[in-house]
Amino acid sequence: MKFNKSQKLYEEGLVHLVGAVNSPVRAFTSVGGNPLFIKKAKGSKITDVDGNEYIDLVLSYGPMILGHRHKKVQKGVEKALKNGYSFGASTENEIILAKIVCDAFPGMDKVRFVNSGTEAVISGVRLARAFTGKDKIIKFAGCYHGHQDSLLVAAGSGLATLSLPGSKGVPEGAVKNTLISTYNDLESVKKHFEDHNDIAGVIIEPICGNMGVVIPQNNFLIELKEFLQTKGALLIADEVMTGFRSKFGGAQELLGVEADITCLGKVIGGGFPVGAYGARNEIMQEVAPLGGMYQAGTLSGNPIAMAGGISTLTEVKRQNPYDQFNETAAILEVILLETAKKYNVDLVVNRFGSMMNPFFTKGKVTNFDEAQTSDTKKFAIFFWEMIKNGVFLPPSQFEAWFLSSAISDKDIKKIAEAVDKAMLAVSKM
Ligand SMILES: *Cc1c(COP(=O)(O)O)cnc(C)c1O
Repeated sequence: MKFNKSQKLYEEGLVHLVGAVNSPVRAFTSVGGNPLFIKKAKGSKITDVDGNEYIDLVLSYGPMILGHRHKKVQKGVEKALKNGYSFGASTENEIILAKIVCDAFPGMDKVRFVNSGTEAVISGVRLARAFTGKDKIIKFAGCYHGHQDSLLVAAGSGLATLSLPGSKGVPEGAVKNTLISTYNDLESVKKHFEDHNDIAGVIIEPICGNMGVVIPQNNFLIELKEFLQTKGALLIADEVMTGFRSKFGGAQELLGVEADITCLGKVIGGGFPVGAYGARNEIMQEVAPLGGMYQAGTLSGNPIAMAGGISTLTEVKRQNPYDQFNETAAILEVILLETAKKYNVDLVVNRFGSMMNPFFTKGKVTNFDEAQTSDTKKFAIFFWEMIKNGVFLPPSQFEAWFLSSAISDKDIKKIAEAVDKAMLAVSKM
């Protein structure tokens, strides 16, 4: 397998782009080597500029739930393009997408569209503060909520990959209202309420994907919601990754919990820049122009992005791929665990719906500390061997793998063959 063209573009990219990437998660810092440059993708496959084809388990970090260039999405977007790109005024498509979203999430009477998951969370947190009149927000170590100042502490995703405790450039004042708890540990939340009386709410990835996949144990979310209600604090579900992915109604539908404020991104735009936040009327009443919480956006509700979201979600709803995702993930789990056993490699596999990933560690992974016991050197070897055998994975031990409805039995077979070679390589380390 040759990477000559990627190598050349990488070197050119370094001149005017930072690390030749526009998001650090795309850098290969933790696995070594240089990032691949992509030429195109179709269905379950992605092709780099050297013509190497891979089964894609990155899927743009989640959005491409139907696989790439689904023909209905392509058609919907092409139709929208003919009418113009942006107007600075409302369009019917915003109403159509809003209805799809509010129907899927019973806790959302109204929604506001923004351009990214980060923006959705910035706004969702501001809304929680506006509604409660309180300032403090609890987050869980290892959860990632986008790159807003106040939540860039003990964060997962790229910060976990690069072993960064937080971000430079974030003033102390910006994080003084952020409290950290341990995932799956309700006591660590209760403790903060004993010490503080100005907590607006708790933000959580209801199924965490940003320290690798970590699943809420037992009734963690339900008990968390019940506890918060007794305190008059809000549950903010960051469903940027899980919305329309875990179930059409997100992790909330799957787990039977209703959040006070929900933040969405990724799948909601089907590969176009869309984020959203929403809540029941009483809460959304705070948002301008109805209320005094200000939040705006020149390109928010962009008609092309809305068309991408509408056609993606309409097709996802029609396909209802969620049982299929579970089955496929269960098959991949068995493949990973049995191959690891065959070669005597310690491995934990966490999965929930169409999100999964192996941790190169022993025991169990239910929180950030346990995730961090993983052997990232083993992951790096595994990663490159998977690449060389035609499977595109996120270049990090701490990022989820995603499934699309375009994945075929033939793809799974190919993944199994790659896993065998990769696990063998890890065992020889
Ligand atoms: C990806 C992600 C974000 C940030 O979304 P962007 O579109 O990258 O800004 C926020 N929260 C969660 C849970 C995410 O997975």
